[in-house]
Amino acid sequence: MKIAIGADHAGYATKQAVVELLSRRGIAVEDVGAHSAAAADYPDYAREVARRVADGRADEGVLICSTGIGMSIAANRFGGVRAALCATPDDAARARTHNNANVLVLGAARLTAGHVEAVIRAWLENAFSAEERHARRLAKIESNAEDQDELRALRRADPELREILCGEIARQRDALNLIASENYASRAVREAQGSALINKYAEGYPGRRWYHGCEFADAAEQLALTRARALFGAEHANVQPHCGSAANMAVYFAALSPGDTILAMSLAHGGHLTHGHKLNFSGRLFNVIGYGVDRATERIDMRALAALAREHKPRLIVVGASAYPRALDFAAFRAVADEAGAMLMVDMAHIAGLVAGGSHASPVPYADFVTTTTHKTLRGPRSGMILCRDRFADDIDRQVFPGIQGGPEMHTVAAKAACLREALQPSFRAYAAQVTANARALAGTMRGDGLRLVSGGTDNHLALVDLTGLGISGADAAAMLERAGIIVNKNAIPFDARGPLTASGIRIGTAAVTTRGMKEPEMLRVGALIREVLHSAGDGKILDRVRGVVAELTARFPVP
Ligand code: PLP
Repeated sequence: MKIAIGADHAGYATKQAVVELLSRRGIAVEDVGAHSAAAADYPDYAREVARRVADGRADEGVLICSTGIGMSIAANRFGGVRAALCATPDDAARARTHNNANVLVLGAARLTAGHVEAVIRAWLENAFSAEERHARRLAKIESNAEDQDELRALRRADPELREILCGEIARQRDALNLIASENYASRAVREAQGSALINKYAEGYPGRRWYHGCEFADAAEQLALTRARALFGAEHANVQPHCGSAANMAVYFAALSPGDTILAMSLAHGGHLTHGHKLNFSGRLFNVIGYGVDRATERIDMRALAALAREHKPRLIVVGASAYPRALDFAAFRAVADEAGAMLMVDMAHIAGLVAGGSHASPVPYADFVTTTTHKTLRGPRSGMILCRDRFADDIDRQVFPGIQGGPEMHTVAAKAACLREALQPSFRAYAAQVTANARALAGTMRGDGLRLVSGGTDNHLALVDLTGLGISGADAAAMLERAGIIVNKNAIPFDARGPLTASGIRIGTAAVTTRGMKEPEMLRVGALIREVLHSAGDGKILDRVRGVVAELTARFPVP
């Protein structure tokens, strides 16, 4: 056991006595000063001791000033430090057993030498009781401290912006977020995203940069790359794309020449803008043929897809969607691609977390290229990533930089490393399984009384609810739900009679609420609330009542 000890001038003499006392008991002591009774500032010594306890260089600390009050205040500003001002042996015993204090603070002016010895003895002889009520209260202290840290610098620097951001924090906390493409990144991911790497330019790749001073940028990117390859079993990874769209662009530029033919799922049936929408770069640069779902089953029509592939001989087949609730059969897509002599790209943006957690089959063994966002079910920063076979590695890397991007956002690369580590933990498998279980439970409540599930159900994290039978549009439904504190988005359903701006459906996803810890019973409750709103005809009283229930529910499931 090692104890760090510090004192100002008023505590100097007592410190010398305590050092001797501890040393006599065979305890290793690090004396950070002061080393004389000349006037000194107590926060300097509080900092040295607190830092050592916080980062593990010392197991515990002792701080002494005249009253002990200044030292307590100063030391308790450091995360992980629990400094307790103790005047009696009973204080010291309780500080240990109840509060798990790790820094003992003494007021030299209040204690005789005999008192000091008795307090120290009580401190050393007691340990944390680990009783549930004490552990619970300590966890609350830590969580309060983290909340206080949030936006602390902005309090002075930009109160106007801070107010806006506080509003967003409250909105995310108080609403039920069922947007299928969103999630709550952990504090660790957000810390990495806000880290010093935000200041670093690092054009190029680890060990091959156009900038100097890249030693830590290299290390962070290597970590992200190693973790990405390990998590998905990929031969090569590129973690630099700024977003999912950039990842797709880099693959198109690596695999295709302008004018080449792509076969991709049409937006109207659940595909994504970057899969060939006419206003998007993909639709403007390439000849895009859209495939879709079968009218009866509302599942991807593999036979029609194979016929289109035979007819159009695409150079690339794109698999993946933003609003498709069913599992994707990558082996079947590979067979179609092989028959047509096409390359296969899977955009797993929506399902990456399910793939990582083993709740959806992996596209990696089948696809030449796999692209993804990192912020949906994967629960990382808002960004993108590419996985590919080794033989495409150089091409992909060249297309990302210098092809379509300049310097990578190294802070976001670090945040991707943090999220990939989280996804490698066994707990992430449980998370992914719960996301799909929750989606099944929630979707199950969306049948009957004018509601219908596109394709009859869900295999992944989302469901598409057809509101045609209710006679309201997706836009109206989403607006009513928002007033009731439930956030979803309007979504076209396959063969939609309405235009995309109003749409006949809503898309509901469970990635975010599962991160908050909600399970099937909560999903049944949420489903009942959604039904109530959808049948409310916009009655303000009903919407307000539901909003109250939502507030109660969300208060029980804190955001990370
Ligand atoms: N691919 C799919 C399937 C998506 O759903 C999305 C975003 O929703 C993207 C790509 C694009 O991601 P980003 O918004 O990061 O460009």
